[in-house]
Amino acid sequence: MLSTPNPPPQHTRMRMAIAGAGAAGLTCALALARAGHQVTLADAGAPGRGALWASAGMLAPGFETLFELDPAHALADEFAALCQRGAALWDEWAKTLAPAALGHARLGVLVPLLDAGDEARAQAALARAGRFGVTAERLSARAMAAAEPALGRLRGGVRLPGDGQIDNRALGPALLEALRDAGAVVLGDAPVKAVGTRQGRACALVLEDGRAVEADLIVLAAGIGRIEGAPPLAQAAPVKGQMIAWGPPAPVRLNHLVRHVSLYLAAKPGGRVIAGATSEPGEAGLETDDAALAALGERAGRLVPALAGRKPDEGWAGLRPRMRDAMPVIGEASPGLVLAGGGYRNGVLLAPAMAEAVETLARTGSLPEWARAFAPDRAGLRGE
Ligand SMILES: Cc1cc2nc3c(=O)[nH]c(=O)nc-3n(C[C@H](O)[C@H](O)[C@H](O)COP(=O)(O)OP(=O)(O)OC[C@H]3O[C@@H](n4cnc5c(N)ncnc54)[C@H](O)[C@@H]3O)c2cc1C
Repeated sequence: MLSTPNPPPQHTRMRMAIAGAGAAGLTCALALARAGHQVTLADAGAPGRGALWASAGMLAPGFETLFELDPAHALADEFAALCQRGAALWDEWAKTLAPAALGHARLGVLVPLLDAGDEARAQAALARAGRFGVTAERLSARAMAAAEPALGRLRGGVRLPGDGQIDNRALGPALLEALRDAGAVVLGDAPVKAVGTRQGRACALVLEDGRAVEADLIVLAAGIGRIEGAPPLAQAAPVKGQMIAWGPPAPVRLNHLVRHVSLYLAAKPGGRVIAGATSEPGEAGLETDDAALAALGERAGRLVPALAGRKPDEGWAGLRPRMRDAMPVIGEASPGLVLAGGGYRNGVLLAPAMAEAVETLARTGSLPEWARAFAPDRAGLRGE
């Protein structure tokens, strides 16, 4: 359920200060503001840009759980459930934002199978569908061609009908507008230097320019940003991703998200087709490199013949915030100091679930049961 838009009784109204206005900070701020709290959000740069703008905007719990998640990871089952929760919450949140502009749809993922390696991966993925509660079906080459005529020759495919996407570049402005409507204060070009404490409890965000935003609860959602007073073990590291786009108009039409092990393709509202992405751990710069972009274009052309040899119209890069165990972090790290981040490959998908957990924590004093595995004191963040 969405946080109630009706303010709670005055005694539960708290002052909330949030560092970082990316996917995590914006959604936490909106859940808290809609629950009636007094929210101030400070971002080092332009609110709503960050990795949200750079991402592919895919909301793909099925593909991420069956094809990307290590089934032996200590938090695999909790993560699969969190992904499903994120997708379900987007179904509700998108309706409360600007539906026409957001392009939110569960249009489904198609996974093309090109060779024996792909077949083996698909078989292993399908065998996990029951465990993770994902609907997935094997399609013949003929059924794949009928579903997505733009794809080249393949041996068959897998369809994940519950996966979808949102227009991530429209989402930042839509969340900012909703925040303004809910009475939150958003500060751009306002880097946070440190967390202020009083008697062992976090009580303020101290900005680089010397201002302090006093609050009853502090939320750090600064992605890979470093803030004094944040616990070092909870610091996310960057994993750079480069992407390309054709259009508008793009030279091809796609009915689904297409996700192969080497590449994904998504048709975005407005007529662009995007392809991504590189995965470059430890790289913190936002520059693109021609060879990486050309390799993406080549792989796209192998999947979709209409893209072969077509020069992309755009290339860009973003930084995924990754915790040491590749899982998100949600919860209180020390009295009054809450962390929301580490969304890594799925920070857009997971954002409303993180926000719901943070709002519950503010209201009840504890995380909801389903979020507890992601708390900052977990073994995975200590390297155990
Ligand atoms: C190429 C690419 C494709 C992706 N595709 C998808 C996808 O399809 N689906 C999906 O779910 N996810 C995807 N992701 C991942 C997703 O974009 C991220 O996990 C998510 O956006 C992270 O959000 P965040 O708010 O935690 O961090 P960020 O987006 O990094 O936001 C942090 C914000 O904090 C601010 N900040 C930093 N330091 C400070 C400071 N000291 N003071 C104040 N503010 C500060 C920054 O300016 C920034 O605005 C993709 C990422 C990339 C790079």
